Amino acid sequence: MEALKIDYDLNTNVEKFIVTNQAKQLFINGNWVDSKSGKTFDVEDPATGKKIASCAAGDEKDVDLAVKAARNAFETGSWSKMAPNEKGKILWKLSDIIEEHAQELAQLEALDNGKSVVVAGVADVPLAVDLFRYMAGMATKLEGQTIPGSFLVNNTLSPGAQFHSYTLREPIGVVGQIIPWNFPLLMASWKIAPALAAGCTVVLKPAEQTPLSALRLTEIINDSGLLPEGVLNIITGLGEEAGAPIASHPDIDKVAFTGSTEVGKLITKASAGNLKKVTLELGGKSPAIVFPDADIDAAIQGVASGIFFNHGQTCCAGSRLFAHEKVYEKVTEGVAEIAKNIKVGPGMHDKDGSQMGPLVSNEQYEKVVGYMESGKNDGAECLVGGTHDNSKGGHFVHPTVFSKTNADMKFVKEEIFGPVLTTQKITDDDLNNIASEANNTEFGLAASVWSKDISTAHKMASKIKAGTVWINCHNVFDSALPFGGYKQSGNGREMGFECMDNYLETKAVTVNL
Ligand code: NAP
Ligand code: MG
Repeated sequence: MEALKIDYDLNTNVEKFIVTNQAKQLFINGNWVDSKSGKTFDVEDPATGKKIASCAAGDEKDVDLAVKAARNAFETGSWSKMAPNEKGKILWKLSDIIEEHAQELAQLEALDNGKSVVVAGVADVPLAVDLFRYMAGMATKLEGQTIPGSFLVNNTLSPGAQFHSYTLREPIGVVGQIIPWNFPLLMASWKIAPALAAGCTVVLKPAEQTPLSALRLTEIINDSGLLPEGVLNIITGLGEEAGAPIASHPDIDKVAFTGSTEVGKLITKASAGNLKKVTLELGGKSPAIVFPDADIDAAIQGVASGIFFNHGQTCCAGSRLFAHEKVYEKVTEGVAEIAKNIKVGPGMHDKDGSQMGPLVSNEQYEKVVGYMESGKNDGAECLVGGTHDNSKGGHFVHPTVFSKTNADMKFVKEEIFGPVLTTQKITDDDLNNIASEANNTEFGLAASVWSKDISTAHKMASKIKAGTVWINCHNVFDSALPFGGYKQSGNGREMGFECMDNYLETKAVTVNL
C-alpha cells in the first residue's frame, strides 16, 4: 500500500495505526485475522480523497465465525454470568483507558470521517467515554420486580393462594450491531457499552467509510486484557456483504442498527428468519420552531448549530426551520450570516481556523448537492451557500440556507444529511396548527422549540411527535437520556435505563409456596 503523505501534526499512535503495509484485520474470538476471502477495501481521507488505510472486507463466512465465537463466549458465561460489580469495574476501567487515548481517537475520527478534530475531541470522544462510564454503573442495576398477582390456577381465581412471583432480567444473548459513519466511535460506544453491561456478547460492523476508530477502540480494549475472548467481535466490510449476514444470521438473537431508514427496512425484513429482536435508530427531518417571544439571538445560534453541527450529518439535525413571521427575516438572516462565516476546510486543520470539514464521501457529496439542485428546481431560493467543491478530491459543501420552501418539496421531505437548512414562515398562532406543520414528516426523531413562554414551550413539547424535544437548545445529549425515534425514525431507545430493554429479556418466575 502506498504510504500516506502526512501533512498533519499527528499523534504517533495515529501515525502508527494508519501508516502500515498491512490491511487492518477483523477481530474474531480475541484474534486479529484476515477475511476468509482475503478481500480488502480502501479507506480514504474525505478531505483529500486519498487512501489512508485498507481494511479486511468480511462476508458471511467471517460473520459466521464471529457469531460462533460470540455464542460460545455467551454460553460459557465468561462474561454473561460474571458478577455485576465485576462487569461494572471492567466497564469503568475501559472508560478510563479510552479516555487516556482521547487525543489519538479524536485525530483518527477527524482523518477518517472528515469532522473537525477539535469537535471530535470535545464531543465524540468524551461522549463515548461517558457512555462506558454510565454503563459501568448500569451493570449493577439490572433489577427485576416482585409482582403481587391474583393468580389463576386451573381456571379458578385463587386469591389466597400461596404464590410468589418475580421477574429476572437476563441478557438477550448474541447481539449483532451495525453502525453508520457520522459518529463512528460514538455509535460504536452507544452500541457496545450497553450490550456489555447487559451481559451480551457482540458482533459489530462499522460503516465501510469509517471503520478506523472502532478498530482502534477494539485494539485498545484488547490490549487491556479485560474482556474474555469472543465477547467483542468486529467485522469490517460492506453493508451488503458483512451487514446483511448479521441481519439474517439464525444464531444472532438481536440486531441493533443505526443508519438510513431504507436499510433499516431491509434489516427488519432480513431479521424475520429467526425473528430476532430488532431496534433501529434511523433518519430524521427534525424541525426547529422559533416563536416570536424567543431569545432571538440564542435561537439564531442554536438553529445554526442545530443544522451545521457535524456538517448536518446528524440524524437529529434541525433541518427544517419554522420561524414565526414576526421574526422570520431576523432569524433566517442571522443563521445565513453564521453560515457565511463558517470556515470550511479539512477537519485536521481546525487549529488553522477550519470549522467545518468535508462530507464523509463522494457518494454523500453527490447526494447533498443533488438535494440542493432539486430544491432550486422546485423554486426554493438559496440565501447563502449552495456552493461546493470536490475539485481537489475532498468533498466540501458550504453551509446553505434556503427560503421559499414548502412541505411538498422533495428536499423538505427527505433527509439530506448535509449542511442544508430549509426555512418556512409560521403564519398562525394556533399551537395545534404549528405542531401539525412540524409533524408533517414521516420521521420523528427530534425537535427544538424556541420560546420564553413556559406554557408555549411545554405545550409544544407534548404536541411534537418525536423521541426528543429540546427547549431553547438543540443537539444536547446525555448518557442518561433515552434517544430514539417515533414513526419511521426507528424503534427502541439508545442510552439511559430504557436502552437496556434492547439487550435484556424479562423472565417471570412463579413459585408455589
Ligand atoms: P446506511 O447505508 O444505512 O449505512 C448504515 C450501516 O448499514 C453501514 O454500516 C452500512 O454498511 C450498513 N448497511 C448497508 N446496507 C446494508 C444491508 N443491506 N444490510 C445490513 N447492513 C447494511 O447509511 P449510509 O449509506 O451510510 O448513508 C445513507 C443515508 O443514511 C444518509 O444520507 C443519511 O440520510 C442516512 N444516515 C442516517 C444516520 C443516522 O444516524 N440515523 C447515519 C448515517 C446515515 P456500509 O457502510 O458498509 O454500506
Ligand atoms: Mg451505505
